Amino acid sequence: MAEALAVLIRLLVVSTIVERVLEIASQIWDYVLQADGKPKADPGRKRVILQTAGFVLGTALSLAMGVRVFGMLGIEGVPFLLDLVFTGILVGGGTEPVHSLIKFLEENKDRVKRELNEARAAPETVMPELETIGISYRGGLYPDRPGHGLRTGNPDLIVFHHSATHLETSFDRIVQIERERDLDPTYHCVVTADGRHHNYCRWDSIGWHAKGVNARSLGICLVGNFHTDPADPSSNANGRFGPPQPTEAQLDTAARVIALWMLLYNIPDTQVVPHRAVGNTSCPGDRFPAQELLDRARKYREMWARSEVAQKELAELRGKEGVYV
Ligand SMILES: [Zn+2]
Repeated sequence: MAEALAVLIRLLVVSTIVERVLEIASQIWDYVLQADGKPKADPGRKRVILQTAGFVLGTALSLAMGVRVFGMLGIEGVPFLLDLVFTGILVGGGTEPVHSLIKFLEENKDRVKRELNEARAAPETVMPELETIGISYRGGLYPDRPGHGLRTGNPDLIVFHHSATHLETSFDRIVQIERERDLDPTYHCVVTADGRHHNYCRWDSIGWHAKGVNARSLGICLVGNFHTDPADPSSNANGRFGPPQPTEAQLDTAARVIALWMLLYNIPDTQVVPHRAVGNTSCPGDRFPAQELLDRARKYREMWARSEVAQKELAELRGKEGVYV
């Protein structure tokens, strides 16, 4: 039915042109005859000539614009020339025959709309049904220890960070650094350059990753140093910490983790922020693709909402220990 409407619109364009040209031709005809002082043209003769002109013009335009009524409606077996002639006759009559067809469709609008929606929805729903979340969770690095205490409520904020270390730093090394700084555990998830996610602080408990908002937030860290301000001595301006942007795999996994948290805790995308938005820091750096991360997270969230497989995974995660308080 969608194709039928598209066909009608093209037919309407051609027939409108024919109609207008014939109107002008008819007026010029009368004018020329009047100017010559001759009596008004014989109406019968004029009609035959204008109809023939309409047919010829309609056929020529249909040929030029590739409009073929049977072919476009998917009716097979009609020879090319015959299809062209029929199309010429249809549009040569002006807009009225096409309008009758549109009126018919209008009267069956609800059915048309339904069929259009089905046609549109079909290709979108097929693929994402197989879309999986692919993020595991078993209570993080200390499943038996609730970080820096249990939360009093579930988180309503997601903060993303960089580690400010070399891009190739391992998860074990990150944990060691946090222990040396007496902050362990900090992030709820760390994503290494190879695109693997490492759950760290238990999701139902407080990690020390963003002073001031720790009690209400989840922290995710992408390993690497994505700050390139030469005025900042700890930045990656000279590339000593490796590439100044996360790897493709890293960004993708981080987006998945964020999308999962948004779904688990019903966190809106306006509540997914870089560390610098809530603290006096440049973290996660001036080269960090924050918008790209958010766009991807939103995309996953929408895909999983339509995916049966993902919904099943989500239900399983919701039932796990260490997710909700
Ligand atoms: Zn940070």
